[in-house]
Amino acid sequence: MLIDLIRDPAGLATMVAMLGVGAAGGAWAASRWCRRRARPARSTAPADFDRVTGLMSRARFEALMLERLAAAEREGRGICLIYAGLDGFRLVNDNHGHVFGDEVLRRTAEHLRELCGPDMPLCRVAGDEFAILADAPGHSDDALARRLVESFTETLKVGGQAVSVGLSVGIAKAPEHGGGARLLGMAAAAMRSVKRSGGGAHAMFDPQIEAQQREEFTIARELRQAIEKHELELVYQPKIDAQSLQVTAVEALLRWRHPTLGAVSPARFIPIAEKHGLIKAIGNWVLDKALAQAAEWRRAGLRMRVAINVSGYQMRQDEFAARLERGLKAHGLTPGRFTCEITESVAMEDTAVTRNAFSRLGEIGVHVSIDDFGTGHSNLSALRRLPAEELKIDRAFVSDMLHSEEARTIVLTILQMARALKLRVVAEGVETVAQRDLLVMLGCDELQGYLFARPMSARAIGIWASDASKTLTQTFRASLFKETVACHDPHPTRKAAQGGGN
Ligand code: C2E
Ligand code: CA
Ligand code: CA
Repeated sequence: MLIDLIRDPAGLATMVAMLGVGAAGGAWAASRWCRRRARPARSTAPADFDRVTGLMSRARFEALMLERLAAAEREGRGICLIYAGLDGFRLVNDNHGHVFGDEVLRRTAEHLRELCGPDMPLCRVAGDEFAILADAPGHSDDALARRLVESFTETLKVGGQAVSVGLSVGIAKAPEHGGGARLLGMAAAAMRSVKRSGGGAHAMFDPQIEAQQREEFTIARELRQAIEKHELELVYQPKIDAQSLQVTAVEALLRWRHPTLGAVSPARFIPIAEKHGLIKAIGNWVLDKALAQAAEWRRAGLRMRVAINVSGYQMRQDEFAARLERGLKAHGLTPGRFTCEITESVAMEDTAVTRNAFSRLGEIGVHVSIDDFGTGHSNLSALRRLPAEELKIDRAFVSDMLHSEEARTIVLTILQMARALKLRVVAEGVETVAQRDLLVMLGCDELQGYLFARPMSARAIGIWASDASKTLTQTFRASLFKETVACHDPHPTRKAAQGGGN
């Protein structure tokens, strides 16, 4: 968090990301995991065993679970299922490859076995998820879950590399929550609820979680058809130059007009689309639509950039950059006039995959904006290497800025840092005149928010421009829309290579 930076007297230069891999040191290191030696994979393990970890297979675990549940019911005692998922495992795989990832899974299995003792049935359910059947009488499931989570706050050393993976744990109990094979799904649902709130904790199953999950599946199913049914739509919100009040850009924001639920917020359905493998299709639709709209506006003489939001999942797909490049060419658009907004947390994911994606965007020459800035762990040197031209201060800081000293300091720090890095700063979520005035006074370059304009249809943008001009500049001119001009070009060679405008 930037907040750490502000509290750090050594200032900006000491801002180092504590990202997954390589974050060794202090209390995080010196784990007893470090002393463990790697064990070779079981290449000829019987089908009853998991090939990677050597634990019993999921099928065997489920069969055993049903047997034990029946026995527990006969004996009138309870039984408990613990479902554990690694946090941050995808980053390990992205950064170090699958062979290394498999080694982490093997070490995790060994570690879980050590903590649970030799008798508790333990299996790898799938990917980085494990299940433990705790039916030893007298022990506390809660204490075991806590122990598991706590033990994963230490650094794991694999092949000389320090790896930080956390653990999210869900618990379901029979007979309280039901019985049979559904117990596994219930514990998994509890684990996912932990992940949703940031991971590294444990939670007991709650029937409400199941209801939420059902709703999520319904949304995912209907979202799958939303493109074909023409239920998706893009609306656009202007970004305004703080000095000239001209429109420098419009940001495309996705809307889903659901026939019965009404307008579903992208904040709700984008994470579901990501989780259920729908983000690629939706992201492609957004990209194609925004490129076509940008071309139409260009033809109409509106000279502002068009920005889209790019999800982390899109960034990790090779085809995204290729599609973007093809689309820009097909519409005859200058890459530097099209913006990709990428959240700070994705931008700071220092993995080979995201590094490669950013360098592809840099090669194409699109304008890159770091969204929700101030909410993630920023690493100054990583930020300097990114082909970014713009930082967007997260809405939360803008809304708190007038009554919170801390939020104001964060805004100021972002502005100072951006100046040092020659980046433009956009403040989003500007709702009041007081916020606007303070941001202008602090030297913010561009403003965006309900105070100026709400997100609106492409057609309404043209009409709004005409109305806005009456209040903002008195006369309507197409030149109300202007290019964003970087205060100092941070990437002169790249820009030179792009050549002139269209
Ligand atoms: P974001 O990129 O940070 O977008 C800003 C959000 O703040 C938008 O919400 C916008 O409507 C809202 N907003 C703008 N000005 C104000 C203001 O003055 N006050 C308040 N309270 N809110 C304001 P929206 O449209 O609901 O989008 C939410 C998030 O969904 C976006 O946050 C973005 O992360 C994501 N999203 C939207 N469209 C897309 C898309 O096409 N693709 C992807 N991957 N994500 C999208
Ligand atoms: Ca955005
Ligand atoms: Ca934002």
